[in-house]
Amino acid sequence: MTKIDDLPIRDELRGQSPYGAPQLDVPVQLNTNENPYQLPEELVARIAERVAETARNLNRYPDRDAVELREALAAYLTRTTGHPVAREQVWAANGSNEIIQQLLQTFGGPGRTAIGFEPSYSMHALISRGTGTGWISGPRSADFTIDVAAAEAAIAEHRPDVVFVCSPNNPTGTAVAAETVLRLYDAAQAARPSLVIVDEAYVEFSHRDSLLPLLAGRPNLVVTRTMSKAFGAAGLRLGYLAADPAVVDAVQLVRLPYHLSAVTQATALACLEHTDTLLGYVGRLKAERDRLVDALRGLGLEVTDSDANFVQFGRFDDTHAVWQAILDRGVLVRDNGVPGWLRVTAGTPAENDAFLDAVATVIKEL
Ligand code: PMP
Repeated sequence: MTKIDDLPIRDELRGQSPYGAPQLDVPVQLNTNENPYQLPEELVARIAERVAETARNLNRYPDRDAVELREALAAYLTRTTGHPVAREQVWAANGSNEIIQQLLQTFGGPGRTAIGFEPSYSMHALISRGTGTGWISGPRSADFTIDVAAAEAAIAEHRPDVVFVCSPNNPTGTAVAAETVLRLYDAAQAARPSLVIVDEAYVEFSHRDSLLPLLAGRPNLVVTRTMSKAFGAAGLRLGYLAADPAVVDAVQLVRLPYHLSAVTQATALACLEHTDTLLGYVGRLKAERDRLVDALRGLGLEVTDSDANFVQFGRFDDTHAVWQAILDRGVLVRDNGVPGWLRVTAGTPAENDAFLDAVATVIKEL
């Protein structure tokens, strides 16, 4: 049987593993930071309506510039952050992963490097490798906050072309202060200058405000967002960025023509019409997240403060064995490979109860 390495693939892909969170059919799935609430029926009907309108024109390519959608996303950002964002500052793609890929194709690439402060979202490193961008693993403190002095030193030493700041950070849940981003931005500009990407996939769940207002006067800063989490639309595949309009112009150089299907654009627009209903679930999930933090601490576990829709808990000598024991009780959580720690996504109250029961049993048996 032919194996990958028998093929003439790029050398830097040899021996690498693809992204692969297990998709297992278990009763309680709390492993990929999805929103547990299904879309409300009235929105489902509105999606069907908008998609039907679109279907009549599927003989044509979609709006390549996704103008109506970007207008709606800009309005959402303006309304929720209080910071005016224009359509020219917004770009959309198939999930924020594709946004990140387009940014790396534009600002990274062969001979260039990107840095992230790990543990962090594993796709930052994977998409870097996929685009031929060298990856530098930057430091994080023992409490999972960014050690600003150490991060500044790493930027000065490596002079990366792209700097990733994930806030709230996956998998730890840690939010990053605006002052920290400003210091890293200044360090990155002094060293090269380079593009600083603030990944705000989970910001709607945060106790802190969005870092979006920092965009003013900083053309090398980008904020990335997604409809996969707070909007409860992971299956839609819709991510976006806000930045200086020049950044939006720059990614046009690498985006595929008509990358965002007409069906995706119509569905996303329908979801944005129902923003208030969808974001109504965010409040419930934040309360459940806080309940998980308290309950896990009540069980005597260590828990990292969380600003996201998930919670990092530990510490375990044999992390994988604990993950498996929780799974044996019908609850799928995530082992992100952070030694000693596991991550659980906030689900419905019933799912979280099932998770807490499973953990209580498992740790008694340790
Ligand atoms: N950024 C972070 C920090 C994430 O955790 C995720 C999803 N797990 C993404 C980006 C990508 O999300 P999507 O492609 O669904 O927008």
